[in-house]
Amino acid sequence: METISVIGSGTMGRGIAYSSAAAGFMTVVQDINKSSLDSCQAYIENQFNRSVENGLINREEGDSAISRIQYTTKLEESAQEADLVIEAVPEIMDLKIDIFKRLDQFVKPSAILATNTSTMSPTEIAAQTSRPERCIALHFFNPVPKMKLIEVISGLETSEETVVRSIEFGKALGKECVKITEFPGFAVSRMNCLIGNEAMNMVMEGVGTVEDIDKAIKLGLNHPMGPLELADLVGLDTRLRNMEYLYKTLGEKYRPCPVLVKYVKAGRLGKKSGKGFYDY
Ligand code: NAD
Repeated sequence: METISVIGSGTMGRGIAYSSAAAGFMTVVQDINKSSLDSCQAYIENQFNRSVENGLINREEGDSAISRIQYTTKLEESAQEADLVIEAVPEIMDLKIDIFKRLDQFVKPSAILATNTSTMSPTEIAAQTSRPERCIALHFFNPVPKMKLIEVISGLETSEETVVRSIEFGKALGKECVKITEFPGFAVSRMNCLIGNEAMNMVMEGVGTVEDIDKAIKLGLNHPMGPLELADLVGLDTRLRNMEYLYKTLGEKYRPCPVLVKYVKAGRLGKKSGKGFYDY
């Protein structure tokens, strides 16, 4: 693989694009929103510049990595040369299907189409393309440069070759890959959404303050982050969409906490909007 295309330059897309360029891949990032693309570029260049300042890479390596990344608002331009396209647009099934259908028209026949969905069925997305054997879910974690895991989820028709090539890509990024059988929420989101939602319910019930519930889980369960600060980092809009999908597919225990629903209605989306369970 030489060229990676990342569709969506938000929380996840920018981390995936940074990691891809850092691993030596030519990388193209596409987004319909120019301001998201600009802030993605600023984030990526800042990450590389900090690595240079901290002595992790030299200036030449930093500049060379920065020059490996292109930014565009045009989908076709972004993916024509790609060997692997990773879609990281919002967790909306119709949107993901629309992008896969469009990509399928013009990417190279050998190209793999991957979705970074946290919860949804790669089989359902792949079924709308002419290449279900070359579609897969590659579920990265936030923040991508730091988090070691990729869940690799085959759809019903995904070929073994696609799985092998995807895992090779993951390893080139320095990640650990686990193969997961398709089921809503895979392994991590299925568990993590439940913990986060329960923490939100506990805030609503007055069991403790946001700070104390996070502190209790961090120190009591040895979690590196509290569930509420983690939800803020994920983005409360993204988390709500994850919960809604899991509620629809897995039932009552995933009913989104009313506080989460209310916060998203108010535009309190967590770290990315400056306010969520915490102020930033
Ligand atoms: P986000 O809202 O931060 O970013 C989404 C980006 O997609 C935005 O920049 C938006 O402008 C862009 N976009 C919207 N419509 C588009 C289109 N038609 N074409 C191109 N770009 C478009 O979302 P996110 O948190 O990065 O989530 C993206 C995906 O990754 C979701 O499927 C989510 O479930 C999954 N995911 C999120 C996390 C997390 O912690 N946030 C972790 C793992 C997986």
